[in-house]
Amino acid sequence: MAEKTILPEEQRCLWERMLAEADGDYRRRRLVLLMIEFYKKPMEDLLSEHTSKPVSMRRPERVHISSGVRQYGSCRMERGKKDICFLTFSRHLFFEGNLDRLRNVVCHEMLHACLPYSEGHGRRFRFFMEKINEAFGTEISVHSPEETIKQTEKLYKYKVVCGSCGNVTYYLRAGALIKNPELFRCVKCHESNFRIEQLR
Ligand SMILES: [Zn+2]
Ligand SMILES: [Zn+2]
Repeated sequence: MAEKTILPEEQRCLWERMLAEADGDYRRRRLVLLMIEFYKKPMEDLLSEHTSKPVSMRRPERVHISSGVRQYGSCRMERGKKDICFLTFSRHLFFEGNLDRLRNVVCHEMLHACLPYSEGHGRRFRFFMEKINEAFGTEISVHSPEETIKQTEKLYKYKVVCGSCGNVTYYLRAGALIKNPELFRCVKCHESNFRIEQLR
């Protein structure tokens, strides 16, 4: 039986203060990294306890703070890269008094980073989500605004993912970028490394 990992009052106060003062992406990212550091081992232990082999969380290769409003967080993984993930958190999570929601979103994405590439919000995700909520006193859910992204996909015909930074864009029709991706560069990272998925 894993020990309960309830957030100690002292830790909570420190994070609350950091959140109130997180007026730049550097500080926001630092707070997220502290949270990950705090929950990583307890989460791995909890998952390992229910799995036949030890579970270790993918290392966040990058923690990005986005200006996105469509989703609070995301954990991107690449097939074949078993040890790393790319985490994104919306800037809109970071305001005074929102620590619990931030913590839920961070733990939600951490759980993705502990599970296989293809799991999504599947059976195992939901099982461990309950276990984590019990043990950590969190309220992770699957009703995150991530769902809205899936709906967006239904409208569009093409999804273009930058293989270098993970930036995602959607297109209604096969324009120049879809036809000749090698001629274009990502607006975020300036690499030309697009993966195009036809959605319907
Ligand atoms: Zn999720
Ligand atoms: Zn890029």
